[in-house]
Amino acid sequence: MILVIAEHDHKTLKSSTLNAVTAAQQIAAAESANIQLLVVGYQCQAAAEMGRSIAGVSQVLVCDAAHYASQLAEEVTEAIVPLATGFSHIIFPATSYGKNIAPRLAATLDVAQISDITQVCDAQTFVRPIYAGNALETVQNNGHQLVISVRCSAFSPAKYSEQNAPIKSVNGAAVFGVSQHISQSLTPFSRPELTTSKIVISGGRGLSSKENFQLIEKIADQLGAAIGASRAAVDAGYVPNDYQVGQTGKIIAPDLYIAVGISGAIQHIAGMKESKLIVAINKDKDAPIFQIADYGIVGDLFQILPELEKALV
Ligand SMILES: Cc1cc2nc3c(=O)[nH]c(=O)nc-3n(C[C@H](O)[C@H](O)[C@H](O)COP(=O)(O)OP(=O)(O)OC[C@H]3O[C@@H](n4cnc5c(N)ncnc54)[C@H](O)[C@@H]3O)c2cc1C
Repeated sequence: MILVIAEHDHKTLKSSTLNAVTAAQQIAAAESANIQLLVVGYQCQAAAEMGRSIAGVSQVLVCDAAHYASQLAEEVTEAIVPLATGFSHIIFPATSYGKNIAPRLAATLDVAQISDITQVCDAQTFVRPIYAGNALETVQNNGHQLVISVRCSAFSPAKYSEQNAPIKSVNGAAVFGVSQHISQSLTPFSRPELTTSKIVISGGRGLSSKENFQLIEKIADQLGAAIGASRAAVDAGYVPNDYQVGQTGKIIAPDLYIAVGISGAIQHIAGMKESKLIVAINKDKDAPIFQIADYGIVGDLFQILPELEKALV
């Protein structure tokens, strides 16, 4: 049996859950297992209801209690541990949510974690990128139980279907209490979410200032795109940290990725090279980003972006 840990906001499932279910389906096919989905949250019935119609999910387990409201890794792990027995694979999306909980769960269960898989070879064998995506490693682990995180961009989302898998309430653990949720500051977004948007336009150090990022914003609004950034742009304070694309930021694979004033360091490319179409704008014709770009414009972004904006009206 395979357990997928749902990422959700208590009301709706995040699309990353669907990517994790697809990976689970591939493992399930290899070992004829069934898939259960676990929703740990507070007043999260609506999220569980969504889960019951995901194709391939045979049962939804719901663990609903006030101390799961903040989804702290310490509390969620305690909820999963007593349920883990009997599951050969416990699968998380390799998002901030999954990366926060999976290692703690693996350590508590004293089993191996296989991180960030991009391919399922069989039920014990997986491919995962290493060295910032410059090499692919095939890992086999014959342990009785595996904790796995799934690179979402490598697995298409599972489909919703007509089915109504049963929902079962399960008991959570008592309050663990080693950590406390103090506050949350959310970046207000009127644009599509970076990890799920079909079009992303990213800016780098070449933008030179926070104010100049408005040039990117205008194009993003015209294209209905999400905005990303290089780490240099984030470190310089041009945009918030959660815009960062790359090895230590978000790993994305949109249909169209436009890199503006970004040199194309390997750590940045690790986060966007799976994009279906890559367009680069850079004044340096030798910038490494052009090596992976499908279309390149060599020139000054301060001239090109306003022209692009006009052309898109
Ligand atoms: C452990 C580690 C992890 C990292 N993780 C990440 C990560 O997740 N994501 C990430 O992005 N980086 C990451 N980095 C940093 C990475 O190595 C680079 O430093 C960073 O990506 C550079 O950002 P940049 O391309 O915006 O800046 P630069 O490399 O400075 O490039 C700026 C580009 O803008 C161009 N430019 C300047 N002015 C103009 C103009 N007017 N018009 C057109 N083009 C112009 C320049 O020609 C240049 O190519 C990491 C580094 C380390 C060591």
